[in-house]
This record gives sequence, structure tokens and C-alpha cells, in this order.
Amino acid sequence: MNNLPEKIHFGAIHKYEDGSYGAEMHECAFPEVGPEDIVIKMATNNICTTDYQQWMGLRDHQGFPMAAGHEFAGTIFAKGENVLDSFEIGMQVGAMHPFCGKCHNCRIGHTGDCTGKGESKTLSYDGFYGTKRFADYIVCDQRFVVPINNAIAPAEAGFLEPVATVVQGVKKAGIKPMEDVVVIGAGTMGLVNAQVAKAFGARVIITEIDPKKIARAKEMKFADVVDAKNTDPVQAVKDLTGGVGADCVIAAVGATIAYKQGYQMLKPLRGRLVIFPAGYPKPELQVDPNELHYRKIEIIGTFGCDLEDWIDSATLISKKLINCSYSLEGKVFPLREINEAYKAAATPGAYRVTVDLQGV
Ligand SMILES: [Zn+2]
Ligand SMILES: [Zn+2]
Repeated sequence: MNNLPEKIHFGAIHKYEDGSYGAEMHECAFPEVGPEDIVIKMATNNICTTDYQQWMGLRDHQGFPMAAGHEFAGTIFAKGENVLDSFEIGMQVGAMHPFCGKCHNCRIGHTGDCTGKGESKTLSYDGFYGTKRFADYIVCDQRFVVPINNAIAPAEAGFLEPVATVVQGVKKAGIKPMEDVVVIGAGTMGLVNAQVAKAFGARVIITEIDPKKIARAKEMKFADVVDAKNTDPVQAVKDLTGGVGADCVIAAVGATIAYKQGYQMLKPLRGRLVIFPAGYPKPELQVDPNELHYRKIEIIGTFGCDLEDWIDSATLISKKLINCSYSLEGKVFPLREINEAYKAAATPGAYRVTVDLQGV
């Protein structure tokens, strides 16, 4: 086995005694490497909304100090004696959220609903919540390690988890080739939703109010990008669909107005509205149950992802069927300046900000 460092460095979000929030780099002893374990030398981790909203003080329920992070990639640095030969040293990898494989939800295929792990919601032996993924090294059971084409930049490979959650949503919505799918919002996850829906064969319409994000969506060669600030997006969708409306709308913005517009954009019968993100403060969704009944409308909530979604996500990224570089802000901060990274990530309108995990 490669010589392992004595310590790992990792980032955590704190709530301080004066009520303010911040992020810092810490050290801890290198974890034990078991026979089933792979040591990943981490390259990058992107700051997700769930991360920076906690740093902003919007998600206190997640617990402090929080050493989380889940949008990472790295390379295999060392491996335990029982690890499969197919996991080669130097191979680029990401990792799934751990699951037990034994509980009822795991057994019916919903590994994302695992009730047997509890890992991220409990304090670890050294007093941190989370699994320490903003770290220069991690140790991970081979069952959860997912190879990603080495030709993909690490910050893009770090989209393994976000793309997997989108794959889950697109599958739940039953998106089929040639359907008219509207994605509301061209932020980080809006662009991923648009790309995955397109990879599943849909004709995609994007609506957005921010000029920067409209420009980004157009740069990606999406033909139908609606400026929802200067035109009525509901009418625009009707016009683009021959007066019919959308087969499916993915609300990629957690806001009352997005849900309202999305609902109004649906075709007369059997339209589907996907509620992709959570919104803080909590948005409203007003629906008429009789209308749901007569128009056979489906409202689809989606969150997280299961085993198959992780694998599909790795395939979409590795085979370049989607390009996650468009969802990156292009700002990279070393791990030792993780608080600055959070500041940039929490800036309104920013795409994903990246932490260089070897910058300790
Ligand atoms: Zn995320
Ligand atoms: Zn389980």
C-alpha cells in the first residue's frame, strides 16, 4: 500500500457563540483502512446549496460543526487487500452516499432512503457531524466507490451526486423522447436538469430571469431559452408548444412563483410538475384538487438518488453525454481558505464554486 499521511485535513461549518457562522479547516488522525476500503486522494469538492445555505444560517437543523460535502472527485491512492482489481490506483472516482444494503428500503432498491446508516446525522467520535468530504483524503468502502472517466476534469466529475439526483427526478417524471419539457431556472441544477432531460430525448425549453444565466443556457446551444423577466413565460411555453403546453415542467427553483408558473405551463391533460429543490424560506404550492383529478395532473416530489441513479450518472458524465462545466462558476479556492469559498458560493447568482482539496 502507498504510504499514508499521518493526518487528514478537512473543512467544517461552525456556528459560533455570538451566533455568526463560518467555515474552517481542521486536522484529524488518518482513519483506519480496512480490507474493503479504498483510500481516495481528493482533488476537488464543489459547494452545494445544502452546504452554503447552512453556512448562511438557513439550515440550522443540519447540526454543527458540520464536516459535510458530497460533490467531490479524486483518484484511488491506496486500497485494502479485498478490494477488486478493477479499482486501479490512479483511477478517477467519486463515491455514493453510504447505505447499509440490509434495511427494507435498501432491499427494495431505494438505497437513498436507507434507514440503517445514520452516519451523517450523528456526531462522530471527534464531535463533528457529516462524513468529512471536504478533505484531502477520504477512506471509503469499495461498495460506494464509483469510477469516472479520467478525462473528465475533477470539478466536473464532482457532479456525480447532483446528476444522480436529477436522473432520479427525470425517471420519476417518466420523461420520454420528443416530449416538451420545461426547466424553470438555469442555475447549477437547472442546467443539469435540462441536460439530463435532453439526454433522455426530450425537447427542452428553459425559462430564467437572470441575464447571466440566460446567456449561459444559450451558450449551451439550447434553442428555446425564455427570458421570464421581459416576457410572460407561461405564454412563451404555450407558443413554443403549438398552444398545447408542456408535457412536463421541472421546477429547478424552490420558489412559489416557479411552482405557480410551472403549474400554469402544463398541457391540459396528464401534465407532470416536478418539484426538484427545497426552498428556504419555504415556498407555497397552491393546487386545486378537482383540477388534479379532472386533468390527471401529477405533482412529483423528488429528492436524493438510488444505486442505479449513481451508476447512470457516472455513465452520463464519463461518456460526455452531458457537460457539467457549464454549472461551474470557475472559481477555485484552496481548502485552507474554505471560508472564502463559502462566501463566493453564497453570492447570489453564482454557479458551483470549487474547493481544491490539496490546498491545505
Ligand atoms: Zn449537492
Ligand atoms: Zn439500508
